[in-house]
Amino acid sequence: MNAVDAAVVGSGPNGLAAAVTLARAGLRVAVHEAADTLGGGLRGAALFDPDVHHDTCAAVHPMAAASPFFRAFGLTDRGVDLLHAPLSYAHPLPGAAPGLAWRDLDTTCDGLGADGPRWRRLLRPLTARGDDVADLLLSGMRRPAGLRAAPALAPRILRHGTRLTRSAFRGEQAPALLAGAAAHAVGPLPSLPGAAIGLLMAHLAHTTGWPLPRGGSRRIAEAMADDITAHGGSLHTGHPITDLRQLGPVRTILLDVSPTALLALGGDRLPPRYARALARYTYGPAAGKADFLVSAPVPWTDPDVRLAGTVHLGGTAAQLHRQETANALGGADGTPFVLVVDPAVTDPERALPGRRPLWAYAHLPPGDDRDPVPLITDTIERYAPGFRDTILASRGISGAEYARYNPNYVAGDIGTGAVTLRQSLARPVARWDPYRTPLPGVYLCSAATPPGPGVHGMCGLLAAKSALRREYGLPLPDLAPARKVTAP
Ligand SMILES: Cc1cc2nc3c(=O)[nH]c(=O)nc-3n(C[C@H](O)[C@H](O)[C@H](O)COP(=O)(O)OP(=O)(O)OC[C@H]3O[C@@H](n4cnc5c(N)ncnc54)[C@H](O)[C@@H]3O)c2cc1C
Repeated sequence: MNAVDAAVVGSGPNGLAAAVTLARAGLRVAVHEAADTLGGGLRGAALFDPDVHHDTCAAVHPMAAASPFFRAFGLTDRGVDLLHAPLSYAHPLPGAAPGLAWRDLDTTCDGLGADGPRWRRLLRPLTARGDDVADLLLSGMRRPAGLRAAPALAPRILRHGTRLTRSAFRGEQAPALLAGAAAHAVGPLPSLPGAAIGLLMAHLAHTTGWPLPRGGSRRIAEAMADDITAHGGSLHTGHPITDLRQLGPVRTILLDVSPTALLALGGDRLPPRYARALARYTYGPAAGKADFLVSAPVPWTDPDVRLAGTVHLGGTAAQLHRQETANALGGADGTPFVLVVDPAVTDPERALPGRRPLWAYAHLPPGDDRDPVPLITDTIERYAPGFRDTILASRGISGAEYARYNPNYVAGDIGTGAVTLRQSLARPVARWDPYRTPLPGVYLCSAATPPGPGVHGMCGLLAAKSALRREYGLPLPDLAPARKVTAP
């Protein structure tokens, strides 16, 4: 292997964002990925049929569409086509009309009856400052950008992060829409981090949307990999790093790994205080994923739900709050929160006659080792009778199996760490620069650092920014593509 300036361990969206940033700054970068395929949470595969692609982790990209990293990187200018369904997301309710979050805020408000004006008052001040909201909530909060959004965000987070949220609406639809968005925090609800994520996700439904990349999430990883190699970087798959000495003499190392893996890699070279703090880092509930090959679109009872890019199944806001809270404590036994994406609703080319992929996952207690397929099938069937008859093939990955599929998903926690208030402010440990480790030249850049989980690339960007400044005295480089590529 040729000498390099910087090594990146792990090629999830954060590892790739870090490598893009370092390579664009002029460093020689090598990326080392344990799996045979690049992309971490952006990976996919043809699981059942060689012509039908499944996203094995992330499928929907509200955060990628809005994040400062990807705005600077210019996904669409690189030929990654972000496609939108008419409905950003839907939330069917038992025995009642569904909550429908259309792309258009006014259409959404019109459908919410008496709660329409309340939904508008909640979100209009945020949609009016969309970039600022995304900049602030995805900034990592050390030197926050988008501060102009703070006066609108702060009171809304305080209200909807506490029991006060229960008096905010009259009907069932608007609270369910907000609770479903907040449940992306994967933890007890209501909570302040849940409200921040819920408001981010709910307002994005009406601004940059909840898009799917044409052809699947892998397209995002491919665009990032292309940029790295175009700027002299190298990519090594099937190359797990178990000892930092494997990387050879290299000035800077960025680790897209969990704090547990950092403890193992750092060994007794880590100062005991830092090691103890890392050992106190906590992981959240698990995800159990079901991939289906189905013969037809999901037969949702409500025809509008069939237009949704993403469907949330969790009952009313009160039921969802109870379920998510019990789940985080490891004791949930009711109906889990299930997210369903039929990619061909948004990207019709993903379907072939009589064959299409269906993506779904459930929030389950930490380390859950049940096959999630029966649980998820039953839940979908409740809102879409006849769904079971459309299943041609299925594959389940339990929370416990996820931890083997990707070591960053410790005990099946796909957020690489619980999104608690403490771990929102100090992630992974309380340090002014959370990316820098006590090991000289070694930085952490995974979702275990601010701003946390999701495909936004911001942990990678902010870790690379810290490394560039400290190790090389360099500013952040321009990340825009040299020339625009037209989507095929
Ligand atoms: C089922 C599921 C659904 C999801 N849905 C969405 C969604 O729709 N939208 C969204 O925004 N987010 C979603 N997420 C979350 C999102 O995928 C993650 O938050 C994101 O991928 C985190 O990025 P990362 O770069 O920090 O880590 P990862 O994407 O987890 O990547 C880490 C990479 O590092 C590699 N690695 C780890 N240790 C080593 C080592 N020692 N040596 C070499 N390589 C190593 C791993 O193999 C992996 O490829 C989902 C995740 C899952 C699992």
